[in-house]
Amino acid sequence: MCLDGARRVGAKILVSGGSRCNVTNRVVSERDFWGGSSRTIRSVLRAFPVERTIGFFREIGVDLHEEENGKLFPDSNSSRTVVEGLLREMARLGVDLRCGERVVAVRRDSDAFVVTTGSGGEFSARAVVLATGGRSLPKSGSDGGGYALAAALGHGYVPTTPALAPLLLDGERHSELSGVAMPARLTVRVEGESDVKLDGALLWTHFGASGPVVLDASRHWHRARLEKRAVDVLLNLCPGETFESIEASLIEEARARPRALPATVLAKRLPAAVAESCVRAAGLERVTMAHLTKDERRRLIQVLLTTPLSVVDSRGYAFAEATAGGVPLDEIDAASMASRRCPGLYLVGEILDVDGRLGGFNFQWAWSSAWVAGRAIASACQS
Ligand SMILES: Cc1cc2nc3c(=O)[nH]c(=O)nc-3n(C[C@H](O)[C@H](O)[C@H](O)COP(=O)(O)OP(=O)(O)OC[C@H]3O[C@@H](n4cnc5c(N)ncnc54)[C@H](O)[C@@H]3O)c2cc1C
Repeated sequence: MCLDGARRVGAKILVSGGSRCNVTNRVVSERDFWGGSSRTIRSVLRAFPVERTIGFFREIGVDLHEEENGKLFPDSNSSRTVVEGLLREMARLGVDLRCGERVVAVRRDSDAFVVTTGSGGEFSARAVVLATGGRSLPKSGSDGGGYALAAALGHGYVPTTPALAPLLLDGERHSELSGVAMPARLTVRVEGESDVKLDGALLWTHFGASGPVVLDASRHWHRARLEKRAVDVLLNLCPGETFESIEASLIEEARARPRALPATVLAKRLPAAVAESCVRAAGLERVTMAHLTKDERRRLIQVLLTTPLSVVDSRGYAFAEATAGGVPLDEIDAASMASRRCPGLYLVGEILDVDGRLGGFNFQWAWSSAWVAGRAIASACQS
């Protein structure tokens, strides 16, 4: 039996990947995840790797194709076909799915569990799988209620923060650039830790910044703040270039086009509005290339390569695609997803302290961990 508090299952699948569902990625390894032990994550991913995910979806009538950065989407380009495929498979297997049945308590009674729902239902079960997700997109039904169920059965809790969330920035610059997308590198510098460097597209918005590279950075910013550590997010607008390579090209431009304005020159490599804002940030609006002093040129390069983003917060769980933190992974047996705290209990998916980067990794964690639990329960039923 499968109990889901939501009226309709698969809300997150439906909204995922811009309603196209980025089901997985061509290459997935433990290095794509943060949170608990990498060894545990690797073991779970290897038990049900990407090839088996692709095969499974093909078998249930959902063929996948690859897009940029290895992302795999259904050929239909509609997340609805993913939900429908999963529901067809549940029906074929005779799973009794009950929607609108929010679980409010799970208690262990001698050798069985008693599961109580908000509508007053009581169900007895030999095994229980907690697959209640994290806190992201709470209106979908994943509002963190699962952590209390796990705690009541003896589990701990790694404090959660939003992950894969847009960032709110202070100042005016982002709203002037709202709508502009560009490649960027973000360096998250946390006091006492090595830098995390992330590359990808950045989208300026009226509230701050979004886009894959920003979403990936958000969990690092939040984790540092949670631990009360100083954190800086540094923006590099010319990923792949060095201070020296940019300086050489600016010197060459000054020779070739002495009367050009720096903003015009920079617009060759950046969106025009971003080029202008960099020149403004360096205070060089009125200078021509010929009159740019060495110090001014270096100041401009500094703005291009390392502008601190004044992050004040993220947009929170309502806009986060994942949750960092959760039930500690070392409380789970990686070979079965069985709880080490409560016999007969299994935990899978985002309720656990595992969060993946953007690109289909979070779903792969959900598919792999669920498969491992399913296999273990099936073999326990046979014995
Ligand atoms: C906007 C958005 C886009 C995303 N896009 C992608 C993407 O393209 N690719 C990717 O890999 N990941 C994506 N993700 C992340 C991905 O959706 C999640 O990591 C994944 O859905 C987690 O699966 P889960 O089964 O653990 O939890 P969830 O999908 O959150 O499902 C948990 C279920 O448990 C139910 N539930 C919760 N509490 C109770 C309770 N007490 N009783 C009964 N039922 C309960 C909920 O109603 C829900 O149906 C996206 C997330 C969001 C929010």
